[in-house]
Amino acid sequence: MKVKMASGISLALSLVLFTGCSNDEPAKKESTSHNTEDHAKETQKNKDQSKTNEHNKNADQNKPSDDSKNSGGKVSQDPESKDGQEQKKNDPSEPTQDHKKPKPPAKNDDSVSVVAHPESIPVLVNKRSKLPEDYSPSDLVYPDVPFIFSEKIEKRMMRKEAATALENMFAAAKKDGINLTGVSAYRSHATQTALFNNYAKRDGYEKARTYSALPGTSEHETGLAIDVAGDGGKCPAQDCFGGTPEAKWLAKNAPDFGFIIRYPEGKENVTGYKYEPWHIRYVGTSVSKKIVAKHETLEEYFNAVPVTNGE
Ligand SMILES: [Zn+2]
Repeated sequence: MKVKMASGISLALSLVLFTGCSNDEPAKKESTSHNTEDHAKETQKNKDQSKTNEHNKNADQNKPSDDSKNSGGKVSQDPESKDGQEQKKNDPSEPTQDHKKPKPPAKNDDSVSVVAHPESIPVLVNKRSKLPEDYSPSDLVYPDVPFIFSEKIEKRMMRKEAATALENMFAAAKKDGINLTGVSAYRSHATQTALFNNYAKRDGYEKARTYSALPGTSEHETGLAIDVAGDGGKCPAQDCFGGTPEAKWLAKNAPDFGFIIRYPEGKENVTGYKYEPWHIRYVGTSVSKKIVAKHETLEEYFNAVPVTNGE
């Protein structure tokens, strides 16, 4: 029994270390190797602590935001997100879950970490992982591709490496008879703040959060993301872009240029966003190819805590 428990412990630990988050479900079902008291404890713990285990992996500075605007943002991280976790690879026959470290009181799972290396090309920015307040990319340029507008303004810019990759990708698409158009790329922190506040004013804070990012949590602030449209600006950042030849071309070819469809279909409870076939994110080819080979998201690539879509 002791041997069994010990292997259970190491299994549980490796789960905590190597999967995106804890597999809560199997623990609830599995009880044969525990007495009822332990089991009751672990069930309670599972309820209480859910999925903050992995924050440190993605943000070395795992400090809660002291920005009151953010602390109001509830990222509901309740049982639904287990769907996301259950698809995790390892499913050892005897998972024991009563050895997880006790957590500080769960902050309703709405904790937001500040990313440690905002300038990193594959940086993970999402509703739980935000850019530092004062971050702005230092190498923004105007990619030489058509946009739906002609002005040289902020939202036309991208970081140098992403801009070059975008130019190459648009050129390759064109050779295949696919005419892509830029809609919106970089967005400064100030712009995102103004944008979000407008949405919140119009639709209310909670509703706005379901489709717009809180300041600091938008990928557009990295200068590595861009929304695109079809020929002549067709379906700019709209659902109708899905299923178009342009969207299909992107899904198939973007990873060759270091881009991923950042919010894929069926991963809403991992990315925190509904399917956005038009929002592509530069992560570099080594990462994009790994992600697409495994049908993963950036969250899964980093073993990050999933983000539910807040609805
Ligand atoms: Zn976007």
